[in-house]
Amino acid sequence: MLANITRPRVLGFAPGFPRPQALIAVALRHESQYYGALWVAFDDHHQFSEEEVRFITTLAGQAALAAANARLFLTSEVGRQRLESILASTPEPVLVTDHQNRLLLANPAAWRVFGVAVEAGKGQPIHMVIKQEALVNLLRSNSDEEKAIELVAPDGRAYLATASFVLAEGRRMGRVCVLRDVTHFKELDRLKSEFVSTVSHDLRSPLTLIRGYATMLQMVGDLNDQQTGHVRKIIAGVENMSRLVTNLLDLGRIEAGVGLQIELLQVQDITERVVSALQLQGAQKRIRLGVEVPPEPIPLIEADQALLQQALHNLVENAIKYTEAGGQVQLAVRLYKDELVFAVSDTGIGISPADQRHMFEKFYRAGQKGTTRERGSGLGLAIVKSITERHGGRVWVASQLGKGSTFYLAVPLCQPKREK
Ligand code: ADP
Repeated sequence: MLANITRPRVLGFAPGFPRPQALIAVALRHESQYYGALWVAFDDHHQFSEEEVRFITTLAGQAALAAANARLFLTSEVGRQRLESILASTPEPVLVTDHQNRLLLANPAAWRVFGVAVEAGKGQPIHMVIKQEALVNLLRSNSDEEKAIELVAPDGRAYLATASFVLAEGRRMGRVCVLRDVTHFKELDRLKSEFVSTVSHDLRSPLTLIRGYATMLQMVGDLNDQQTGHVRKIIAGVENMSRLVTNLLDLGRIEAGVGLQIELLQVQDITERVVSALQLQGAQKRIRLGVEVPPEPIPLIEADQALLQQALHNLVENAIKYTEAGGQVQLAVRLYKDELVFAVSDTGIGISPADQRHMFEKFYRAGQKGTTRERGSGLGLAIVKSITERHGGRVWVASQLGKGSTFYLAVPLCQPKREK
């Protein structure tokens, strides 16, 4: 505050400028950042009243705040534009929703796939913009896990959509969903399955032939011990191969979506059949095989009997295979709302978390001791998964290495109309 400037030249004003006789200057400061100064000059000497000083200081405070906001806006605008250009050049469709399931953002790739209706920023509820129910459910889901679904978009291509939470300071602000075009991989998978099915089919007749003639060898003449041993090995090998071929053909048929033969079934019938078919196999390993059905009556279930039985058979057979002699295997059934959950538990070798993730993939076999000793193709669980999914159900596993495993298979009590 200079009330009486006697030598205005020291202030360094440019020549020709009026020479002030009094001046007040206030720093423009906001949260320890300096943005400049606000100054007011007077032609004549001026005594600053307390009120004037307060007024100018307030004005400076407001100006500093405005400057701070302008800078903040500029920074966030640059950030926003940068993010927008990154998203715009991402070839994969990206959708972002807020915590109220409204569409916040959709990149141009998403517009192309879902049509021009996908206009972001208007805060439209997601189900008004996206017609794919599965995708809407994925974006609305509250589950903590990162989920993925496959869907066919309006452009006719197959996408794998993954959604995860957008977290800001630990709080969930919404979800971001990225869709990956997997049409090419689906086509490759289809061609591969077709090829495998054709080859398996063509292998069937020669295998039957080999097995038949190998069995007959003993009938047409005496064989010595060594020859008998060789024949037995040939038959065992051929039986293994036949099992693999049958599994491959089954899987091919299930995946190809051959219509389900839906019937109303009594759950006890299915569990009894599965267990009695495997009783001998269990007894040979001294494994106690138990069934646990709830005391209250269970409603009839709509399912394809042969397929559901096969899925449970595979699970119980695995439980016996991967449990040491003297162990225990249990097949339990529970009713949860409108879903029937089968649980096959064993006291066997268990499965490591890394293996659990791949368990249901085709040809996957865990590498641990105990697995390698058993014969198998790694197709049993893939068949279980396919059958369950064809019934609109789910399979999962809980296991501890060295302690045992429980495989769960959940299927809805009723099938949608078109399947009946
Ligand atoms: P396969 O038994 O013919 O190898 P599956 O698809 O039925 O094929 O099983 C895949 C792998 O999962 C098996 O090789 C085994 O390593 C593991 N597995 C399946 N069931 C069990 C179980 N009950 N306990 C431990 N490991 C299991």
